[in-house]
Amino acid sequence: MFTNAPKPTLIVHGGAWAIPPEMAADHQAGVAQALKTGHAILNWGGTATDAVEAAVTILEDDPTFDAGLGSFLTSKGSVQLDALLMDGATLRAGGVACVERLRNPIQAARLVLDKSPHIYFVGAGAEAFAASHGMPLINNRELVLERERIRLRDAQMRLSLGLTDITFSGPLSHDDKSSETPADESPSLGFESHDTVGAVALDQYGNLAAGTSTGGTLNKAPGRVGDSSLIGCGCYADNESAAVSLTGWGEPIMKLVLGKWATDRVAQGATPEVAAKEAIAYLYKRLGGHGGIILLGPDGQCGIAHNTPGMAWGIANSQGLRTGLTV
Ligand code: ASP
Repeated sequence: MFTNAPKPTLIVHGGAWAIPPEMAADHQAGVAQALKTGHAILNWGGTATDAVEAAVTILEDDPTFDAGLGSFLTSKGSVQLDALLMDGATLRAGGVACVERLRNPIQAARLVLDKSPHIYFVGAGAEAFAASHGMPLINNRELVLERERIRLRDAQMRLSLGLTDITFSGPLSHDDKSSETPADESPSLGFESHDTVGAVALDQYGNLAAGTSTGGTLNKAPGRVGDSSLIGCGCYADNESAAVSLTGWGEPIMKLVLGKWATDRVAQGATPEVAAKEAIAYLYKRLGGHGGIILLGPDGQCGIAHNTPGMAWGIANSQGLRTGLTV
């Protein structure tokens, strides 16, 4: 599957979880819109970094996803956003975490990548850096949807009653034949939704880039940072290996530095298709973790895998545009 894809190529994801049927169309539409815009940039001669930034910006602006507008809320009811953008040609990266006043954290990440000798800014320092380069600072309330207030209230009520909402347990991928069932580290709310967004691109100059953006996990403690914006965990890009973006419960992904693990596999000769499946199998087998991954090699080969019931994904290359909700 997905082999020998000609470049330029763009893969995006909009989270991996049990996407309910009534939300399927919105997920597919959002992914398709991000693909169209990002792939057009690649076809016009834009860089992989440009295409990833543009695709992720569209997904951040789409309230369907847990990134930018409409993100999950912290336990205190605010939105705190994390994002990373990485250029595989130079290994330059830009990351921001725990930002509350930026509509598009991926654009702040781009500014860090382009304009700072540093790689990573958090909180008020990240917002001040972005503002000093012209990004408007907004009121956090502009990112909070009533839908999310209700979701948080319901989740906190269930937790206070000691109720869990695990909609599945154990390996779900058809590919995971593991008979072992390690204890799952995810708190009960972890299965509800992983709508983090991400993109990986290969441009006509042969360069790779990756980006991941998230509102994090539902009811997270303020200040908590997940895998998404941490280099090598939820996002990584290197022309000499691959570009990767992950979604899922962040803590197990962080412990395994899973993005770098997967790109290293490609550098060692695995196809992205195989490396993606291996990464998700390893995540489950080692820590009982769950999630999804998109992986793109420097020759345009693609890999997508997840061990959740669904994953919103899409690929655009010269063969056309495809989207799906399972692999
Ligand atoms: N990985 C994200 C985090 O743990 C959540 C997600 O992918 O939905 O912050």
